[in-house]
Amino acid sequence: SHQPPYKAGVPEDYYYHSNGTAPGPRANAAFVILARNSDLNGIVFSMKQMEDRFNKKFQYPYVFLNDDDFSDEFKRRITALTDAKVEFGKIPRDHWYQPDWIDEEKASKARDEMVKAQVIYGGSVPYRNMCRFNSGFFFRHELLDKYKYYWRIEPDVNFYCDLDYDPFLIMQNEKKVYGRKHRHVIKWLFPNSTTFRLGFTVSLYEYETTIPTLWDAVKEFMDENPDMLQEGNALGFISDDAGGTYNRCHFWSNFEIGDLDLWRSDAYMKFFEHLDKKGGFYYEVCCKLSCRDSPRVLKRYIQRWGDAPVHSIGAALFAKKEQIHFFNDIGYKHNPFQHCPQGDAHTKGKCWCDPSDNFDYHWYSCLARYDKMFT
Ligand code: GDP
Ligand code: MN
Repeated sequence: SHQPPYKAGVPEDYYYHSNGTAPGPRANAAFVILARNSDLNGIVFSMKQMEDRFNKKFQYPYVFLNDDDFSDEFKRRITALTDAKVEFGKIPRDHWYQPDWIDEEKASKARDEMVKAQVIYGGSVPYRNMCRFNSGFFFRHELLDKYKYYWRIEPDVNFYCDLDYDPFLIMQNEKKVYGRKHRHVIKWLFPNSTTFRLGFTVSLYEYETTIPTLWDAVKEFMDENPDMLQEGNALGFISDDAGGTYNRCHFWSNFEIGDLDLWRSDAYMKFFEHLDKKGGFYYEVCCKLSCRDSPRVLKRYIQRWGDAPVHSIGAALFAKKEQIHFFNDIGYKHNPFQHCPQGDAHTKGKCWCDPSDNFDYHWYSCLARYDKMFT
């Protein structure tokens, strides 16, 4: 199994950042951005907002990953946006490209059919590489070895509200208000208080009602490894019949604040391996944005092995439901949906989104189902 080399607990030098303007503790965390050189403008758009809304004060480092070498222009324009540390990494070949055991004839036949059916990204191999990489490999990149938490950012997203607290500390359940001295006491008093493993802002259904091959593979894994499932898990979020069928709810993965150790765990690694060996990342297409089109178009998506459902199913099986956190006060948009904080949260964050444009309890959103797990 994959053992992260960082030390347990937060090292002392993470507590005060040399040039940060916000005093106080820092988590062992970084932003993670997968991008091509051609994504530069979209990345700059997202990252500038992240800096202004949050990171100018908190100075968390950025890790950029690419299957190709980043251009000098890319590096120049990105590093100009922040005082925080920025690292650029290349993805190892075997973490990106279609593995040998995939039957290329079968894969290319599937692609041809999806092109004919006008499935979005249906004919694209790079898109499939990307989905497989995000599902099973990004957290194994050596540049991430030293970190425990990550915040994923995609090109062309909006961050709408000022964040004056640190969501990474929320993830690790730091009781900031009690100060450094008492934190250890709190941990001693409440050893089982929750640390979050996955944070989200938008969750949604996939349209189709047919049973996908993805769920067949998941069920097979559950049958073979019943003891790997977490007690008190969030299966209720993704299935209405105790695992019989997938209700198609998933957390949108273009926004993720997560615990890298959830994905590095034996359970998730084994789960990913199981899915990977089925070949569905290449025989099917992954579509994170499966719902941006009309229901008629959506029917053409056929099967989806996206990193959003794969992460969501993984989190639902291997985390406790209380460890999945809805970041209500982070206003966020990735086309075509946005989460815009309501009421006090909107005011407190000085949010610039239109509060009436909010996906939370839209008929297509799964937030009500998430809420229902706790009632
Ligand atoms: P969508 O949101 O599903 O339409 O997919 P995106 O085009 O936003 O891609 C998801 C993420 O993966 C973004 O951060 C992209 O920059 C990145 N990405 C997609 N395809 C590739 C690729 O072929 N190479 C690299 N390096 N990054 C990619
Ligand atoms: Mn995107």
